[in-house]
Order: sequence, then structure tokens, then C-alpha cells
Amino acid sequence: SVPASIASAMSTGARRGLLMKGGAVIEAAAQISHVAFDKTGTLTHGRPVVTDVVTLGATTSDELLAIAASVESGSSHPLAKAILTKAEEAKITPLVAEDARAIPGSGVVATVDHAKVWVTSPRYAADNGGIVAKHLEEAARLEKEGKTAVAVFLENQPLGLIAMRDEPRADAAEAVRQLLVLGLTPVILTGDNPRTAAAIAGNLGMAFEANMMPEDKFAAIRTMSAQGGVMMIGDGINDAPALKQASVGVAMGSGTDVALETADAAILRDRVTDIPATIRLSRAAMANIR
Ligand code: ADP
Ligand code: MG
Repeated sequence: SVPASIASAMSTGARRGLLMKGGAVIEAAAQISHVAFDKTGTLTHGRPVVTDVVTLGATTSDELLAIAASVESGSSHPLAKAILTKAEEAKITPLVAEDARAIPGSGVVATVDHAKVWVTSPRYAADNGGIVAKHLEEAARLEKEGKTAVAVFLENQPLGLIAMRDEPRADAAEAVRQLLVLGLTPVILTGDNPRTAAAIAGNLGMAFEANMMPEDKFAAIRTMSAQGGVMMIGDGINDAPALKQASVGVAMGSGTDVALETADAAILRDRVTDIPATIRLSRAAMANIR
């Protein structure tokens, strides 16, 4: 049977919106030494807003948005939603896109008006002839401001950049501060680029690892596990392997079904400070048993 102090910690947690799938989660959470966070949708709201549209002479900003919105129309990625919202606000009707396909960790590609069009990370675009040098520099500048830039390109023709900003959640910095007080090591694991990651991590006072594919997040958790217990917090499909590998995987309440199903726990109200609260609660429950 479950010791009384663990059962009581679970119900206290549940009342506050911290859902733990069993008493073993409390035991594991009491023993972690590292806390790894996904960035987009976890430390940030996951609701980026378009801030900059940068074109080459051949297209106008509205044309660039129309093309990008077409390619993104089938995607549920937060960046896709930002582009679609901006197009809608500007009263731009997306063209019809066919055969849209995600390139996990890199972007999306579709056929628009018989041409293949990509909306991807500048890095992927650079590897595929989809960005001019001037825009690669411009993307780096935008990223240092904490924005995420994506490149839009046709078969062999770079078209431009769209930059978006996704604000950190209001309590993210406070949560990091509390984790440090608890003697834990917080780190961001993100698929985003190192400049955007550095800007966000710098504001929050924590370390980061960027350019991570889902399997890289998984490998990072495995490496950290050699030094002690790891709690991983995420919201996306791309976080699922890492959530499973962590000694405690925690999903954001607003996360994808895959994240919620894979995780050992969930913070239903999306408050980042519920992470240090969960650890304090777990430590107190275990101290009462011993
Ligand atoms: P995160 O770990 O921050 O949630 P993802 O793995 O989902 O990031 O995406 C990593 C990067 O791939 C993004 O920063 C972006 O450059 C690119 N990307 C992914 N999906 C899309 C999309 N639908 N549209 C444009 N770019 C995308
Ligand atoms: Mg995410």
C-alpha cells in the first residue's frame, strides 16, 4: 500500500493542479538533481507573434506572407499558427497548397501553384540553397533579440524571412530562481537555434542546449541521468522520447496528447513555478517516511 505521506502529497498536489500518475513519481521527484525544460510552449507561452517580414526585391511582404501561410495552413506548429494569424489580420487569403509535409525539427514543405515551397529554419535553408547571405546575417541579428526567424524559399529561389517572438511565461524566471535555491541544475533543451535560445536562457538565468532534434533531447536526458535523477518538462510530440527517458517526465497541461500520455505527471495550470512546488512537496513527503 502507498505510505500515508505519499498519498497525502498526491492529493495536495492534485488540488493545486499537479497531477502525478502514482506514488513512485513522488519518490523519483524527491531525488532529482537536474531539471530539463523544452523552450517553446513550456518556458514560453508557445504563442509566437510575427514581428518582422524581410523580402527580396521580387516579392512584397504581403506576397511572402501569402505564400508562407499556404505552406503552413496544414501545420499545427506554433510558428505556423503565428504566420496564419498574421496573414488573417492582414486579410490575406492563403493560396491552395498540396502535399504539405513536416520536416521534423526543421520546417515544412508543400506544393503551391506547381512549385515546391519551403518554410524552414535559416540553417536548413542555408543547407538547401534557400537563403541569401544578407538574410542569413539578418536572421542572426533577429535571433539575438530572442526572435525565431524562418526562411521562405522556392525550388532554387530564396524569397525572404519571417521573424516571430514568443514571450517567456510570466513566472518562468521565478521558477528558475526557486530551482536554484533547491540546489538543482535547470537547463533548456530546444530545437530552436543557439542565438534565440541564448537570449531566452540569459533572461531566465539558466543554461541551454540548442538545435536539438527529438532524438538529441532523448540523448541529453540519458547523459544527464548518469549524474543523478532528471526531471524533464515538455509539451510537444518532439519532447515525448525525452519525457519517457527522464526519471520524471512532466507535461504541460496545454501540451499535445502525446506529451500528456507519455509523461509521469502534468502541471494542469501551465504554471512553471508548479515545478519547484512539486519537488518541495515530494521531498517533504519522503522526509516524513524516513
Ligand atoms: P522547439 O524545441 O523549440 O519546440 P521544434 O523542434 O518544434 O522546436 O522546431 C525547431 C525549429 O524548426 C524551429 O525553430 C523552426 O526553425 C523550424 N520549424 C519547425 N516546424 C516549423 C514550421 N511548421 N514552420 C516553420 N519552421 C518550423
Ligand atoms: Mg515545445
